[in-house]
Order: sequence, then structure tokens, then C-alpha cells
Amino acid sequence: MNRNDAPKAPAKTTPATFHVKSFGCQMNVYDGERMAEMLGTRGMTAAADGAQADLVILNTCHIREKAVDKVYSDIGRLRREDGSRPMIAVAGCVAQAEGAEISRRAKSVDIVVGPQAYHRLPDLIDKAGRGEEAVDTDMPAASKFGALPGRSKQARPTAFLTIMEGCDKFCTYCVVPYTRGAEISRSWTAILDEAKALVDGGAREITLLGQNVNAWTGEDDRGRMQGMDGLVRELAKIDALKRIRYTTSHPNDMSDGLIAAHGEVDKLMPFLHLPVQSGNDRVLRAMNRSHTADSYLRIIERVRQARPDIAISGDFIVGFPGESDAEFEDTLKIVEQVRYAQCYSFKYSPRPGTPAADMDGQIPMDVMDDRLARLQALLNRQQAEFNAATVGRRTDILLERQGRYPGQLIGKSPWLQSVYFTVSPTMPDLSIGDMVEVDIISAGANSLAGEPSRRKAA
Ligand code: SAM
Ligand code: SF4
Repeated sequence: MNRNDAPKAPAKTTPATFHVKSFGCQMNVYDGERMAEMLGTRGMTAAADGAQADLVILNTCHIREKAVDKVYSDIGRLRREDGSRPMIAVAGCVAQAEGAEISRRAKSVDIVVGPQAYHRLPDLIDKAGRGEEAVDTDMPAASKFGALPGRSKQARPTAFLTIMEGCDKFCTYCVVPYTRGAEISRSWTAILDEAKALVDGGAREITLLGQNVNAWTGEDDRGRMQGMDGLVRELAKIDALKRIRYTTSHPNDMSDGLIAAHGEVDKLMPFLHLPVQSGNDRVLRAMNRSHTADSYLRIIERVRQARPDIAISGDFIVGFPGESDAEFEDTLKIVEQVRYAQCYSFKYSPRPGTPAADMDGQIPMDVMDDRLARLQALLNRQQAEFNAATVGRRTDILLERQGRYPGQLIGKSPWLQSVYFTVSPTMPDLSIGDMVEVDIISAGANSLAGEPSRRKAA
């Protein structure tokens, strides 16, 4: 590989320290943690930031254009004042989508590794250290999970656990089926073993992850086919595990069993992230979503019957090719009908290789800007209303971290809101990972203020 025009090569060919920077979804955060744990078991040490690391791994996201641009600007910024740079690895979905093209475009990139191949990072690091091309975007038949070391002690009381990968849905705007491959569920035993290891390592809340996490299916230890609800019920038996969440769900995989579990499993938190994308049926068909606005609303209704206080979250795309003003209004309408607790909303971003990128009727940026602003104003209002409605409630929060001010602690409510409070001198010692009962006394746009009523047994 010609590196003549690259910044000065890394000083150390065998890196001793590393830094992983993850972009995008929670699955990337999880992958980044697994990479870090794997390198840790190989004797490498985590550096506080990229400036101090011998190896920097940019764990990328390809879902929208800006995310890709950010990776290239980050690569540029890794050059140090003396002209040197760390060894640079690009991992994640940009690596999968662009492969060796990345190291052609950014000559300082030493390693390119896709999301299904990162268990081979140690070999790639050795190769890069020898100055050889180190590109691996294989999607091997044998899952990477079996090749990764077990979970180590957890730095936080909340942990992610990927239970299934890939996607077979092929929404016409989305790169995930191409970058993450076909839908594959991890085994019942592998998931339960990892959950137990996370809890032994200090986790008190586990969020199950998958691009369509509720499509998970597998045989339990007695050979019976189970859906994700079965898995949730089994996880709930782990005594020291206090809370279970999952994300992201697809409306078509919202089974009766899972809806019932929301009413029956106390540890399953009253929060559902269920993206609808658009409130208009023609747009939903063009997106290949295979649900309608009405079928989505019926699911929400049934989930609310099972768990009346459930917080609903979602994803929206504005400006999908061909979306008319009236069709966009249908999106505002469905938002009014659902009343969301918090949401993500995006301008449509054409992704190379996806069907929608070649569709007629691409929407001008100023129109998308305007639609996004209107949608977000409505969603923000609903979030504020949802938060305000919690004032006066008494609820448990799981303490996650210290706050900015002395004595301030921050935790999450069951509805995934950040709640902060200040410890008074008369209070018993509280630790991160404790569950505390608080009264919610006021609400802001993004967080709530609480007052502890009493300390709960952990
Ligand atoms: N599997 C989930 C589902 O079907 O709802 C979503 C996973 S996707 C990684 C996360 C979100 O990114 C999507 O729900 C969608 O709103 C957004 N997204 C995906 N492709 C996009 C694109 N080309 N432009 C804008 N937003 C996009
Ligand atoms: Fe992408 Fe659609 Fe699959 Fe979600 S369901 S990951 S939006 S293709």
C-alpha cells in the first residue's frame, strides 16, 4: 500500500494503548465495548482519549450522510502537532460499506474492519504493525460472539446486550441490511450467560439490543421455540437484575406475548421505542415498511391496555422522496394521536445503493428543514408534557452517576427520564447502582428534579 502521502507513520508499531470512539446506534456502543474488552484481555490499556492512544478505533455509523463526513473529519483531526499520528482503525458500518476505499481516500487509515469481523482485530493490528494491508469486511458464517472473551466488570450499572443482529426488512431508505447483513438471533444460552456475567460484573439494568430486537427467536434450554418475551421472562429471574429494556423494535414483530409481558413482568420497564417513520400509508408503502398508520396505532392501543403508563418513543423520517405537504401533515397527525414521550426525527438522507436513493421526487433541503422544524416543535412539546405529567409521582430511580454539583446524583426513571437530586446529610450512603425512591418535584425539557423519600434495598 502506498503511504507516501500519509502523515508520519505511528511511532509504535505494536500499540500498547487504545481508544474506541463509537458513533451512531446503541449496537455500535455495544460493539465498541466488546472491542475494548477484547483488547484489554490482550494486555492493551484504554487511554483516556484519542490524543493519548497508540491505536484509535473509529467505530462508525453509515445511517446518514453527516455521520460519514464526520468520520473523515475525525481521521484528519487525529494528526498530532508534531506531525505524527496513532495507528488508525475504521470499524462499523462505514467500514463495511466502503471497505478498502476508506484507506484509499484517507491514507492514514491502517485498519478497516466490518461489524461482523471485529473479533479479528488483534490479527489486523499485527498486520498493520508490519505495514501490511489490514482490511476485513467478511460476514463470516460463524458468529463473532463465540470468538470474543467473556464480559468483564462493568463501569456502569446499565449495560447493553446485543441479542440479534442484521435486518431482513429492507426498508427502501436504509443501509442496515447491507452493512449488518441478514437477521441472526443469538442463542438463548449465550444471551443468558452474557446477562449473568454482566450482572455479576455489576450491571443492574440490561438493555437488549438489535436492529429489530423484537424479531429475536430461538430455542430455550428445553428445546421450545421462544420469542423475545420468553427471553425477557427468563432474564427477569436473575435476582440482582432490576430492570430490563429493549430497543429498537419493529411494529411487525410486536407479538401478543411481548405486549402481554409489558403488563406482567415488573422488571420490564414501561418504555417502548417503536419507530413508525411516517403517518402516511402511501409513504409507508414506498418505504417498504409493511405496516400502516392504523395498524401502528392499534399496536400502541394494545400496549397501553397492557401497561397504561407506558412511555412511547419513535423514529421519524421527513422528506422521503415524493412526500407531499399533505402526506407530511399525516405524520403530524399520527404524532398528535400517539402522544410520544420522546423521539428521534431525521431528514431523509439518500444512501448509496438503497432503492430510495434513485427514486423520483427527491425533496429539496429547505422543504425538509421546514418539515423537520415543525415536527420537532410538536415532539418537543409532547416530551415537555410527558415530563410535566410525572411531577407529583413517587417512583424508583436507578442511580447512574454523580451530577455536576457537589452531592448531586443522577438516575433514570422507569420511563427513561433523567432524574437528579441532592443528597442531604441525614440520608444513608447512596451508591451508583442503588435504586432510590424519589418524589418528582419539577420537570424540565430533558430532565426531572426529585426528592428522595427513602432508600430502597438494593
Ligand atoms: N430497525 C429500526 C426500525 O425499523 O425502525 C430502526 C433502525 S435504524 C438504524 C434507526 C433509524 O434511522 C430509523 O428508524 C430511521 O428513522 C433512521 N434512518 C434510517 N435510514 C435513514 C435515512 N436514509 N435517512 C434518514 N434517516 C434514516
Ligand atoms: Fe433499517 Fe428498516 Fe431494517 Fe430498521 S427495519 S434496520 S429501518 S431496513
